[in-house]
Amino acid sequence: MPSVLVVEDDQFVRSALIRHLTEASHTVRSVGTALEALREVAHFRFDVVVLDLGLPDLDGAEALKMLRSITDVPVIIATARDDEAEIVRLLNDGADDYLTKPFSVEHLSARMAAVLRRTRGPGQAPPPRVLQVGGLSVDPLRRQAELDGTALDLTRREFDLLAFLAGRPGVVVPRRELLAEVWQQSYGDDQTIDVHLSWLRRKLGETAARPRYLHTLRGVGVKLEPPAAPERPA
Ligand code: CA
Repeated sequence: MPSVLVVEDDQFVRSALIRHLTEASHTVRSVGTALEALREVAHFRFDVVVLDLGLPDLDGAEALKMLRSITDVPVIIATARDDEAEIVRLLNDGADDYLTKPFSVEHLSARMAAVLRRTRGPGQAPPPRVLQVGGLSVDPLRRQAELDGTALDLTRREFDLLAFLAGRPGVVVPRRELLAEVWQQSYGDDQTIDVHLSWLRRKLGETAARPRYLHTLRGVGVKLEPPAAPERPA
C-alpha cells in the first residue's frame, strides 16, 4: 500500500485529495506548510510526496530544495502556475513530475503510479540502497543507521553527516564541503562541525584519540572508513 504525503494548504483541495487517495488504497498523511512537510519526511517514510507550490510559509522551489536536502522520496509538484520555465527548473531541482491545477484524481493517480514504477523498477519493492561501511550500515531512505546490528539514535544533522561520509568511505572530505553539503552553508564556524563530530563519535562508541570509523585530519577534513580489522568487507 503506497504511502503518500500531501502538502497542500487549501483545505478543500486537501480533503478531496485525502478522500480519493484513501479510496484508491493509499496511506495518506497531510500537512499544510512546507516546514511541517520537512518534519514529516524526517520522521516517516513515504513512497511519494505531492507538493503544492503555493504554500504559506515557504516558496515552492525553496521547499523542494529543502526536501531534497533530507530525502530522496519522489516528489510530484502540484502547481496552479503554468509557467514552463519554472516547471523545467523544478524538475532540474529534483522534482520527479508535475501536475497543473486543476487536475483530476485519476490524473494524479496515473502520475503517481508512473513515478512509483520508475523508482521501484518493474513490479518489485524498491531495492534498499543501504550504505555499508564495516559494521556500520546507513539507510538514507529510511533515515536509519545501525552499528553492528544495533540502531543508532541520531539527530537529523548527525544522521546527515554520517550518511554523507558513509557515501564516500575512505575519502577525506574537506570541511568546506561538509558545511556546504550537510549544513547548506557556504561558510561557517569549524566548531559547528567539530561539535557534531564529537556527538557522532560518542554514539559510535569511539573517541578522537582512539578513532575507529571517524578520522579527523587536522586542517584537511574528515573521513569515514571501516576499522583496521573490518568485521565485514565494505
Ligand atoms: Ca496553495
